[in-house]
Amino acid sequence: MQTADVVIVGGGIVGSSIAYHLTANDCRNVLVIERESFQGKGSTGKSMGGVRAQFSTPVSIQMSLYSIPFYAEFEERLGYPCDYRPQGYLFCATSDKQMAYLRTNYTQQVKMGLKNVRLVQGHEISSMFSQLRADDIVGGSFCSTDGFVDPYSAMTGFITRSAAQGATLWKNTVVTAVSRDANGVTSVETTRGSVSTRKVVNCAGAWAADVARLAGVDLPVQPLRRMLVPSEPFDEFPHTAPMIVDMSNGFHFRPEARGFLLAWNDPEETPGFKMDFDPAFVEKILTRAADRVPCFANLAVNPKRAWAGLYEMTPDHHPILGEAPGVPGFLLANGFSGHGVMHAPATGKILSDLILTGKTELIDPSLLSLSRFTENRLIHETAVL
Ligand SMILES: Cc1cc2nc3c(=O)[nH]c(=O)nc-3n(C[C@H](O)[C@H](O)[C@H](O)COP(=O)(O)OP(=O)(O)OC[C@H]3O[C@@H](n4cnc5c(N)ncnc54)[C@H](O)[C@@H]3O)c2cc1C
Repeated sequence: MQTADVVIVGGGIVGSSIAYHLTANDCRNVLVIERESFQGKGSTGKSMGGVRAQFSTPVSIQMSLYSIPFYAEFEERLGYPCDYRPQGYLFCATSDKQMAYLRTNYTQQVKMGLKNVRLVQGHEISSMFSQLRADDIVGGSFCSTDGFVDPYSAMTGFITRSAAQGATLWKNTVVTAVSRDANGVTSVETTRGSVSTRKVVNCAGAWAADVARLAGVDLPVQPLRRMLVPSEPFDEFPHTAPMIVDMSNGFHFRPEARGFLLAWNDPEETPGFKMDFDPAFVEKILTRAADRVPCFANLAVNPKRAWAGLYEMTPDHHPILGEAPGVPGFLLANGFSGHGVMHAPATGKILSDLILTGKTELIDPSLLSLSRFTENRLIHETAVL
């Protein structure tokens, strides 16, 4: 029987980052198992690639404070590019209540050590981007080290470097069962045979609840469809722009190639494994786009280039990290609620710390344990796009 010190189920950006951090710390017999014929077919390849530290809770901010500098040094550390572009995130508030919310978050972010975030006034926003309809914008917040990465490149960098450090990737292989004895996990069954191991990490993204069930664990992670619409080349808005978030309705956009990538969280969406792009979404999002950026009325989009993917939602919009209660050796890195790309570096570090030393300094891991749901210790992240 094949043996591995650690088996990682799912070869998206999270599994790849954990494999990298383990092998970088001399734990080299790591096996990553991916059911698809190539990596990135889950949420990682569908992501908008936004990275930001502008969150509301200390633990989300801490994860970004590790991850964003990591992305900034990615090529130096790993030898592969991740295309980090620090163009910022600009949140635009359209009411005093939203501005007070941004101010509270700003205070928390600065307290946690974030350096490049600042509050901006409404008139500053309109002078930065005269193309925005700014009559109702009362102010905002901007962080210059927020920005974007290419998730596919980052995932590829993590896995390629892990392989050079000793990890093995099995593609086209499904994990079908997790076996345990009184001391915990003993092996996983796969479509390529059994693998003996004492440590299994669930990195199955939106499918994490199914994989957790294999170990008898009930995981509150639900898939939720998100759709993105890229535009054709467009030069009437600067390509140096940050991710701009219209807080009146959640519409946001960023430059992508020679055009723009548009996103909006449709409140009518319901949980489920819906992967198809709904053409009716184009009109919904373009209405919001033209409302905030009048020149976007001239934006051309080809619905055939738009796509849908899955967020992996938890009830409090924080991930679930660490060992599953009652199942020694079965670890969780799930439920990123739309933040799995930006928090992948921190997750790799936290999980490898927990696996190799049983503790981590990066965050207080008890905050993100699965038991928070049964112990009524939910910590709500409200800065979710
Ligand atoms: C439209 C959209 C926009 C997004 N925008 C952003 C953003 O701007 N910033 C950000 O940080 N995040 C964003 N996200 C979220 C982000 O993409 C995810 O949080 C992240 O990719 C999760 O990575 P993962 O590795 O956990 O999951 P995935 O990339 O989904 O990888 C999980 C893998 O597990 C495999 N798998 C499942 N079951 C099994 C099994 N039984 N055996 C073997 N393999 C299995 C799957 O095939 C899959 O490849 C976005 C997501 C979407 C859909």
